[in-house]
Amino acid sequence: MTRIADLLAAGRTFSFEFGPPRTDDAARRLDKTLVELEPLKPSFVSVTYGAGGSTRETTREIVEHIHRDTTMTPMPHLTCVGHTHQQVVDIVTGYRDAGLENLLALGGDPLVDAPDAPSDFRYATELIELARGVGDFSIGVAAFPELHPKSTDRAVDRQHLATKLRAADFGITQFFFRAEPYFRMLDELADLGVDTPVIPGVFAFVNIEVARRFSATNGATIPSHIDERMSAVDGKPSEVRKLAVELATDLIQELLDGGAPGIHLYTLNFSTATREIYANLGLTPSGLV
Ligand SMILES: Cc1cc2nc3c(=O)[nH]c(=O)nc-3n(C[C@H](O)[C@H](O)[C@H](O)COP(=O)(O)OP(=O)(O)OC[C@H]3O[C@@H](n4cnc5c(N)ncnc54)[C@H](O)[C@@H]3O)c2cc1C
Repeated sequence: MTRIADLLAAGRTFSFEFGPPRTDDAARRLDKTLVELEPLKPSFVSVTYGAGGSTRETTREIVEHIHRDTTMTPMPHLTCVGHTHQQVVDIVTGYRDAGLENLLALGGDPLVDAPDAPSDFRYATELIELARGVGDFSIGVAAFPELHPKSTDRAVDRQHLATKLRAADFGITQFFFRAEPYFRMLDELADLGVDTPVIPGVFAFVNIEVARRFSATNGATIPSHIDERMSAVDGKPSEVRKLAVELATDLIQELLDGGAPGIHLYTLNFSTATREIYANLGLTPSGLV
C-alpha cells in the first residue's frame, strides 16, 4: 500500500521531507541521509520543489531514485509558479508513467532566479484539478496553522484552505512550535464541515539563524521561552541539535496525544535528529502505533 490517503485511512503515518541538494557535497549528504533513514521505514518521504528554479529537475531525479532504488514511497512537491499548462501536464504525466501515486500540490513561492516568471496557474487548487485529469494520484496540499504568511483575514484564509482540502486527499502543515494553533485550525476546519486529514509538520532545526529566518518567512511564531533557549545554544551545533530534538519530541508527543493523523518531519536532509526523535518517542521501524 503506497497511496498516502490509504495509509492515513489505515493508521498514523510518520514521514520525512527532503530538499533537492544544490552542490555535490549536499548531494552526498542527502544520499547518506536516505540510507540512514530508510531502516526507520517511514510511511512516505517527500521532496520539495523549486524555491530556486535550477533545482526543479533535481526534484524529479531524487523522487525517481527513491522510487526505483529504495523501499521508501516518495511524494514529489509541485508548484504553480513559473510554469505553462503544458509543462505541468508533462511533469505530472511523467510522474504517473514512472509509477508514482502521490503528489503535493502547492502554490509555490516566487523563483529565486526568475522572480517574475509568468505562470498559467495561480492557486494550488488548479494543480489538483489538472493532476486529477492526468492520473489517479493521492493528492496533498499545504496548510498553515498560523495562517498563510500573506493572509490578512483569518476567516478568508480558512475558507480558501477548506476549499482546497475538500478537493485534496490530505494536508501537511507548515512547521510550528506550539500545538495550540494546529488544533485550533482543525476546529475551524471542522466548523466549515471539513475533516480531510491534516498531518502536522515538525521542524528538526540544526542552526538557530536558519530556524529564525525560516520561522519569519513562513509565519511560524517562536514563543519567547523557546527563543531564549535558542539564544543560549546559538553557535554550538551539538547543543542546537539537542534542543531541536527535545522540542520536537515534546511537540510530537502532544500532537499524537491530541489525535494527529501522523507526523511529517522537516529533516533539512540530516538524519541524526530524526533518528533521535524516533528513539525518544519509542517508535519502532514500522511507524506509529
Ligand atoms: C507542507 C509544505 C510544503 C511546501 N513545499 C514547497 C515546495 O516544495 N516548494 C515551494 O516553492 N514552496 C513550498 N511550500 C511553500 C508554499 O508553496 C508557499 O507558502 C506558498 O506561498 C503557498 O502555497 P499554497 O500551496 O498554500 O498556495 P495556495 O493554496 O495556492 O494559496 C496561496 C495564497 O492564496 C490564497 N488563495 C487560495 N485560493 C484562493 C482563491 N481562490 N482566491 C484568492 N486567494 C486564494 C490563500 O489563502 C493563500 O494566501 C510548502 C509549504 C508547506 C506548508
